[in-house]
Amino acid sequence: GGFQSMNLTYNILKGITKRGYKQPTPIQRKTIPLLLEGRDVVAMARTGSGKTAAFLIPMFEKLKSRQAKAGARALILSPTRELALQTLKFIKELGKFADLKAAVILGGDSMEDQFSAIHGNPDIIVATPGRFLHVCIEMELKLNNIELPDSRQTLLFSATLPKVLVEFAKAGLSDPILLRL
Ligand code: AMP
Repeated sequence: GGFQSMNLTYNILKGITKRGYKQPTPIQRKTIPLLLEGRDVVAMARTGSGKTAAFLIPMFEKLKSRQAKAGARALILSPTRELALQTLKFIKELGKFADLKAAVILGGDSMEDQFSAIHGNPDIIVATPGRFLHVCIEMELKLNNIELPDSRQTLLFSATLPKVLVEFAKAGLSDPILLRL
């Protein structure tokens, strides 16, 4: 099946097409339907496998459109600034026709800029973990719309899956499907 058979909204499909993607990569073919169903997924996927689009496409689809009043509804934690900025770039390109707003919270950036980014009520936050925690504490940011413990959907994508990471995933994810590609 191609992207056309995945039941995606017109504007999401348009972003994929304009980005030049013709066929889903193997990881996209496996993960997108599972993520649209709401499953938690742990995926081992190397760089270059198309993993970023594999989680962004269903994320766009689930968020549907901008809801400024709801606050952030999706959080992407990245281990490094570079990866976070690359993910933001992906959101802007692939999600060009999706009516969604994204902001970054990165270690090394000014706290003032980050407070104003949060005040802009993004739908999606891309962050590095340490600074994100700091901003949450400083702003008493309550992630009610993400952290509904029973209903949140959690994904973990990594190039490697050492045992400690699998243990961590078992603790934080709900009955995750493990994919090694
Ligand atoms: P990633 O594994 O997320 O770092 O993506 C690696 C590269 O593959 C990026 O340049 C993407 O734009 C590209 N890519 C992702 N999905 C597809 C696709 N379905 N068709 C062609 N290129 C893709």
